Amino acid sequence: MSDLIHGLTSIEVAELTKRTIAAKDVAYCPYSNFQVGCALLCDDGSWVIGANIENASYPVTICAERVALAKAIYRAIGVATNITPPASPCGMCRQFIREFVSLETPIFMYDKNAEYVVRTLEQLLPMSFGPDDLNHASELPGHSDKK
Ligand SMILES: [Zn+2]
Repeated sequence: MSDLIHGLTSIEVAELTKRTIAAKDVAYCPYSNFQVGCALLCDDGSWVIGANIENASYPVTICAERVALAKAIYRAIGVATNITPPASPCGMCRQFIREFVSLETPIFMYDKNAEYVVRTLEQLLPMSFGPDDLNHASELPGHSDKK
């Protein structure tokens, strides 16, 4: 397979695109009216989606990425919004993602036209602080075969 995109086949990227954009439809965002969808491709080939869930008590609001992130190991993450250029995960989500995936994990960011920009977690969160800094890496999903 010579034409992988950050380790994904073109079929996987097409599926990530479809699922990430569709995930926006389940957003609950009456306060911001800013829909965000997120899809995760897990190591076992299964998919997980999430969308932003707002709350009248604003700090209780959860971003789409953190809704989607369960206890699986991820190969790729997609985030979709209805703006151009595409939005990237907020700083809090970048740190949250850091807990569960390797720094090489690609994050595909889709705009309103399904065009994407892709960056690795390391590019989005350089010089990051993570579980390996606390010497707990081997106990956590996605980190057991690293270092
Ligand atoms: Zn966020």
